[in-house]
Amino acid sequence: MPRISVLPDTLASQVAAGEVVERPASVLKELVENSLDAGATQIEVEIRKGGVALLKVSDNGHGMDKENALMSLERHATSKLTSSEGLAAIMTHGFRGEALPSIASVARFRLTTNDDPSTPATDINTEGGKVLQVSEVARAKGTTMEVKDIFYNVPARRKFLKSEATEYAHLEHVVRLSALGNSAVRYQFKNNGRLIWDLKPTKDRRTRIADLAGHQVLKDLQEVERYMMGEIAVEGYLLPGRLARGTGKSQTVFINGRPIDDPVIRGAIRDGYHGHIQQGQFPVVWLWITMPPDMLDVNVHPAKREVRFARPTEIKHAIVEAVASTLSPQPRKPHSPPAFLQTSEPVAPPVRPVESVEQRTVEVTPREEESRSPEPVEPSAPAFQLASEWATPDQQEMALPVADEEPQEGEQSAPFSLIGSLQGKYWLMEDENGLVVFDPRAARKRITYEGLKRAYTENTLSAQALLIPLLLELDGHDQAALKAHLPTLHELGIEITSFGGNTFQVQSLPTLLELSESGDAENFVLGVIDQLETTSLKSAKAREKVLEQLLMAVAHQSALTQSADQQFALPVVAELMLCELPYCTPEGKPTMIHYATNEIAKKFGG
Ligand code: ADP
Ligand code: MG
Repeated sequence: MPRISVLPDTLASQVAAGEVVERPASVLKELVENSLDAGATQIEVEIRKGGVALLKVSDNGHGMDKENALMSLERHATSKLTSSEGLAAIMTHGFRGEALPSIASVARFRLTTNDDPSTPATDINTEGGKVLQVSEVARAKGTTMEVKDIFYNVPARRKFLKSEATEYAHLEHVVRLSALGNSAVRYQFKNNGRLIWDLKPTKDRRTRIADLAGHQVLKDLQEVERYMMGEIAVEGYLLPGRLARGTGKSQTVFINGRPIDDPVIRGAIRDGYHGHIQQGQFPVVWLWITMPPDMLDVNVHPAKREVRFARPTEIKHAIVEAVASTLSPQPRKPHSPPAFLQTSEPVAPPVRPVESVEQRTVEVTPREEESRSPEPVEPSAPAFQLASEWATPDQQEMALPVADEEPQEGEQSAPFSLIGSLQGKYWLMEDENGLVVFDPRAARKRITYEGLKRAYTENTLSAQALLIPLLLELDGHDQAALKAHLPTLHELGIEITSFGGNTFQVQSLPTLLELSESGDAENFVLGVIDQLETTSLKSAKAREKVLEQLLMAVAHQSALTQSADQQFALPVVAELMLCELPYCTPEGKPTMIHYATNEIAKKFGG
């Protein structure tokens, strides 16, 4: 009996019509899902020229006989669903029977398949959906689908394809997600003839994560032990908040085996990390969620990864709890005591606790500045220290071009005195007019930005080669963002070279940033790449504009990796006041807010 049957029309129309073929990556997604549905344990993906020249998927699944192979190219031919009752409970990836005919209609398509090793395989060649030739060939059990010259007959669509790097990024993402969702399956991935991944099958998801994200993640992965809430189960792995990224794309979530990118889920993850990440950061997670199929509607958008939940609040809760309890195994206190109550103690851990970084002491000008230097307290663990030439305002002043305006102002030895810190996030100071609240990150952004810019224009920017060159596994999106700016980054002292496949090597970083060679250098570079992806760099044509944006990205990222501990308040503010524009960040946000005493008095009715 043929395995494939044609959907009744009523059911066909119940299934939301979706645009299957949006770009090469959407085709690849369908092909790989078909292989998984066919029970493959080995999937080979080969692409050329961003998938436009070639997309080839070979599997060792159950294959098809000749009759089924021909039928698979007909609209609404599916072996996976025969009645509308089945629709709610569907667990396979495909069920519409639309993918193959849609794909075949916009490309030169070849299907070679064999369901029985004792008989020859069927080989079907089509062009624009028309069957040109059907023949018998030799092939082991399984299926190979070859899509060439995608959109060759739809020039309007072809025009919308992006650069090879961008299309590659999307394709790579498809393979990455599929491989993460199916670690028991072996995946091979080749791009332009070059082997990018050969992922061995494994029972341990950690191994698959490490094979894809780089083995350096293993030491930081935290396991989310299977967490049940009602019928919802959540498990997976997390990276600590300090390794959060600047975009949401490193959040990988599967629901019932399907990769999902959904605002409800993203919000829940963020809530679970509450107190562990800073605003605007995205924690890195890999979560596998299972729930009864009738709790979600996967039919909202066939080509996208969004879903609709029957009971979103429950799902949200399950994720928040699973994540939060992994990050802080003991029940968390709702509030830690205000920092200023902990008088002589160092301030409560900053928002980004830095583990595993060797402790360093502050290098604040030992020989002078009684009023400016804080008590030399052991830092709780600063991510890194400002370079010594930065920590010495006097030295820095000497290095400044003799300016005829402002900067002298900052010299009037410490117009600010430290009152304390607000929730470990802001520094409270007073000056002769009232209260001044500093945003440490904003201040450091300004300082680093001007420092880098000055060094760059004066040609004194020095880069420090890393003793142990840092290797980074970058996904396709990161690569596309990075590659576009490699030369400019190099000019800023950030030297990164391709190391083959998805691996990149960071060879040097600006000396000014004084990043330790362990975690923060990596964190810093990844953060800069995220910035490249999110800033308006793409539209910036002029060289200076690009440079400016890069300087901002570097300054922004380096500020993120620094401690907000109040022991750094006075030296940092002193440096800030030496800047040309101390009152705002390069982006124009304030670095400090002033509350005049008389305004405050007024509020009290004085
Ligand atoms: P759907 O996956 O929605 O059923 P498709 O158009 O993707 O629809 O595929 C049509 C049919 O072709 C599938 O139902 C399946 O029976 C068959 N098929 C497609 N790809 C493969 C494959 N790699 N191995 C075996 N059978 C396949
Ligand atoms: Mg399918």
